[in-house]
Amino acid sequence: MRVIALVQARLGSVRLPQKVMRKISEQTIIELLLLRLSKSTELDEIVVATSETDENKKLVKHVESLGFRCTQGSEKDVLRRFYESAKSLNADIIVRITGDCPLVDPDIVDECVKRFKSSKVDYFSNISPASFPDGLDTEVFSFNTLEQANNNAFSTYDREHVTTFIRNSELFAKDVLQNETDYSDLRWSVDESEDLKVITKVFNHFAPDIFFSWKEVLELANLKPDIFVDNQTIKNNEGAKMGSGQKLYKRAKKIIPGGNMLLSKRPEMFLPDQWPSYFSKAKGCKVWDLDGNEFIDMSLMGVGTNILGYGHPEIDEAVQRTVKDGNMSTFNCPEEVYLSEKLIELHPWANMVKLARSGGEINSVAVRIARAFTKKEKIAICGYHGWHDWYLSTNLDNNQNLDNHLLPGLQAQGVPRGLIGTTLPFNYNDIEQLEKIIKENKDQIAAIKMEVSRNEGPKDNFLQKVRDLATENKIILIFDECTSGFRETFGGLHKKYNVEPDLALFGKALGNGYAITACIGREEFMQAAQKTFISSTFWTERIGPSAALKTLEIMERTTSWEIITDMGKRISEGWRTLSKKHELDLQISGLPSLSGFTFNSKNHIIYKTFISQEMMKKGFLASNAIYVSTEHTQDLVDNYFSELDPLLKVIKDSENEDDIESMLLGPVCHSGFKRLN
Ligand code: PMP
Repeated sequence: MRVIALVQARLGSVRLPQKVMRKISEQTIIELLLLRLSKSTELDEIVVATSETDENKKLVKHVESLGFRCTQGSEKDVLRRFYESAKSLNADIIVRITGDCPLVDPDIVDECVKRFKSSKVDYFSNISPASFPDGLDTEVFSFNTLEQANNNAFSTYDREHVTTFIRNSELFAKDVLQNETDYSDLRWSVDESEDLKVITKVFNHFAPDIFFSWKEVLELANLKPDIFVDNQTIKNNEGAKMGSGQKLYKRAKKIIPGGNMLLSKRPEMFLPDQWPSYFSKAKGCKVWDLDGNEFIDMSLMGVGTNILGYGHPEIDEAVQRTVKDGNMSTFNCPEEVYLSEKLIELHPWANMVKLARSGGEINSVAVRIARAFTKKEKIAICGYHGWHDWYLSTNLDNNQNLDNHLLPGLQAQGVPRGLIGTTLPFNYNDIEQLEKIIKENKDQIAAIKMEVSRNEGPKDNFLQKVRDLATENKIILIFDECTSGFRETFGGLHKKYNVEPDLALFGKALGNGYAITACIGREEFMQAAQKTFISSTFWTERIGPSAALKTLEIMERTTSWEIITDMGKRISEGWRTLSKKHELDLQISGLPSLSGFTFNSKNHIIYKTFISQEMMKKGFLASNAIYVSTEHTQDLVDNYFSELDPLLKVIKDSENEDDIESMLLGPVCHSGFKRLN
């Protein structure tokens, strides 16, 4: 009977990359584990079973230099890796050890092997049920058991976690080594950086001895509990239930304030603890997460950047050509001139252009130009215009000032208090409020800056009235079309309403996913850019304008704004029909191609989370808003509604009982900045 310990280890761990190669004092984790395990008397050989990917070559070399053998197999199908390894090693009995458990105890291993042999079961462990600290896991099974599992386990989960199929199946006889006291909430494995801190302190305590027993570690835990506090909040075995994206997001939150760069893409905004968070690939209106799961994006589509779908072949080709010819040089790129000409052609009232790469910065460019031209300082605003000081100052004296705009509650810490009172918010469709602001700040307002329409359309000739007020008071009118542009017309939404601003800003969809934003305007105002300093290195790179030129060409050829408006109307109609069918009070708003719904219920946010959770199971990224793209075909939309229909029924049936929350597998989503502190 050949007894082989197979130590499962790989370098591509998501939460703590290269963890088995990390050092505690002078030795790697895998080295400590192998040396400790070598004290076992029941093992004929100890072999490291790693993944076949290139990055593991380093691990193989290291393990071999320590005098141990390695086998290599599938990265994700670890069950197959085990089976093939055991077969090639002629193992009769396999002891499964995981590489992230350097405190593995040879006495426990020996006890398990002996008990396996004497009890004649198929599977013997100290984990099912668990009573030992996490990190001492030892599982013993026959080759035959492993072979059966390999032949019969089909779920990705069972293939990744090797023994879950055996543990959950009636096919196998099982027994367990159990402690009198349950220590299973102690965490001695190494999954995250906090775990490494704890285990390092444990080894440091016993140094230079590395062969201390688990009972000695237990005594240490009683004697010096401080050593074990760092990882106390991490739940044991939570990693098994988490996707790679959630694991990476946990890692991200430790080194990136807030976890990412854009509020709207935080997983908490959709489905806390469950949202896949990161993509490996995106094409059309499909995205793939880090585990290769495919989703139809019926949600934000890059937050409005991809009207023509992700990875549009012609645009990508134009970008690839640019990359091939060179993206940067000491000279300027000619495309910036061609793009500027095209934008002017689409908006004949404008005759000059400045380009940038993000929406916030192009808004700042426009504000600077307006202030430079008028020599006045105040800006009346309506809508969301980016993260910069000039805008955020709106909330300096009272962080409710932006409550009626896209992102309520934004905090303005760090914005100079000297800016208090320089931005004056007014509500959409409230012309009297704007009139009052202009009157009270006579001759001090440089610009009125607003989104042409976001949730509601203009009423009672609102836009024209704003235009007239601006003209009468010599105020520059700026339309921020970063989101509304190209969604309903070929250019700014203002074209639909026949109201011309003095400056207009484009972003988001202009480059179909590549970074490019533009400020277009009347020459007399735009020339004021010369009286101040507006300049930035990467505004000269070539990918942005090349992508935008190709995007505009395709939009024009396909009349994309009509396609997405039509489909958007059909989607809103679909929501309306379902809400009637299930007698739910649903409020639908927004531009046709960027519409959303709200439940008129105190449970809105719970329902929204529930929908995201359940739709994800059906392969849809869904929230309560859709940025339509030309890739959203009728078939896909029909499928979306077939899946949504029964969910709305569940919501209706439970309307008065609040039990939807009990169906959530994680916390409810956040509703905006306020809940993200
Ligand atoms: N203006 C509007 C109207 C927007 O919708 C946005 C982004 N949501 C911005 C400005 C800011 O753009 P960015 O996120 O690219 O800075």
